[in-house]
Parts: sequence; structure tokens; C-alpha cells
Amino acid sequence: MKCNQMTLCLFFFIVFALSSVVISEDVHAIAAKTGEVDTQTSLNVRSGPSTSHEVVGSLTPGEQVAYTDNGDGWGELVDGSGYISLHYITNHDGEPVDRSSAKHDSVPLNNERIVLDPGHGGKDSGAVANGLMEKEIVLDIGKRTRDILENAGFAVLMTRDEDVFVSLEERTAMANAWGADQFISIHANGFSNPAANGVETYYFPGSAAGKHMAANVQNQLVEHTDRTDRGIFEESFYVISHTTMPAILVETGFVSNADDASQLADANYRQTVAEAIANSVIDD
Ligand SMILES: [Zn+2]
Repeated sequence: MKCNQMTLCLFFFIVFALSSVVISEDVHAIAAKTGEVDTQTSLNVRSGPSTSHEVVGSLTPGEQVAYTDNGDGWGELVDGSGYISLHYITNHDGEPVDRSSAKHDSVPLNNERIVLDPGHGGKDSGAVANGLMEKEIVLDIGKRTRDILENAGFAVLMTRDEDVFVSLEERTAMANAWGADQFISIHANGFSNPAANGVETYYFPGSAAGKHMAANVQNQLVEHTDRTDRGIFEESFYVISHTTMPAILVETGFVSNADDASQLADANYRQTVAEAIANSVIDD
């Protein structure tokens, strides 16, 4: 009958309309994620998915955000206000979000955050002698250390991973904003007397955690390199006194000493130093 067919048509139309609503809500639920801003200061919201895009706003620590993850390390806020780095977002269950970005494909197995700070860079060469520049030596050691720590499941932030100048203020601000657990500054020494040689590690005066870190890395260095043990020392260097987490500064040898320099020029030595630094974190 006509009337029944109309009813049937209407029925199917309603079923169809409802199902499309349900389906579209499903798609939305799959795409969006929620998390919490995990910084100690604030998190920049940018107009696009990279640090080269302009800052268009900021979020406060602990703030809840809904975003879509396009797999490039950046989240697009569902309210359309911009993009945020997922390095600083923690999911509700306290687990870090997938930090596999275009840069590194390993996913941290734990929540420990290590900042590696290769000294100098760009216009600042650091110590220069025997054909070596400190900025190049320590960047290479830093990258090698990063690779080992990331493979061991640590989240690693480098204050620089190329030959650029980064101020001491920027270095410490990066570490503090990220809420790092440990800060390790990597340097090589230079001195007017070419006889001076060996490895040494500095920590913030009175810091028990810093002293513990310094002793660990110094022991590893002395055990695995054939360098002179100059010991561990208290010192208020900028980067270890303006960081809010335990921090050390490692001197990996003297570019001004012929014997140390020949080691620092050798990739095997730089790898050994990187393993010593990484092991002091992993074995702790
Ligand atoms: Zn230096």
C-alpha cells in the first residue's frame, strides 16, 4: 500500500541519517587525542607544524588539550587555534605520547628526559688547538651519546644538533621548560700550558645529585679512556647553576695537549666517551 511504502521510505531515510551521524562522530573520535601540557613554564602555540612558524598563543602547564596527531611530532589543536610540539604533551595516563618524530624513529620506553648540551657552536669555536675546534668535537660526542641513550629508551633533547650558536640562557631555558631529569654539558678543554691533560667533571656546589652524576660519569670516563683522571669539582658554571635539575659539565680532554688531541680527533675515542657518558645515565 502507498501509505506503508511511504512509512518504510521514511524509516530507511531516518536509519540512513542516523547512521551517517554515528559514523562521522566515530571518525572524529579516532582522529582526536587529548593530553596535558607537560612543561614548567609555558608551551608555544604556532601557526604551523614547525618552530619556524610564528607563535600565535601559549598554553599553561597542566592544561588539557585536544589535538590531532599527523605523525610529524606536532599536534593540530582541534579548536583550530594552531599547532603544538608533542614533545611537551603527556597523555592522561601519564605516559609520554609517541615522540617518534621525523627526526628520530625510536620511542622512549620510560619517562626519563636527558638534555645533552654540546658546548659552543657557530661563531663560538670554544678551545682551538692542534687543528681541532672544541665545538666540532663536542657536537660529535653529543650526537653519539644521544643515539645510545635513545636506543636505550631515554627521551633526549639536544640544546644544539648542528653548528649553530646557542646562548647559555637559551640552553638552560630549553632544559627547564622541558622539565628534564638530568642535564649534561659536554666540553673539551684548552689551556695555555700544553702539558695540561686529562678528563674532569663539574657539578653545582653542594648538589648531592650533581655530585653523584659527576662521580658516575668520571668513573666511566677513567675506566674506558686511557686519560688522566683530574677528578670531579664543584663549580658554578652558568649552565649548571641556571638549570633546575641535576646538572654536570664534562671536560672530555684537552685539545691543547698533543696526546689528548690525537685521541679527540679519533672517532673511536669520541664513541668511547659517548658510551661512558651514556652508561653513567643508563647504569645509574
Ligand atoms: Zn667549552
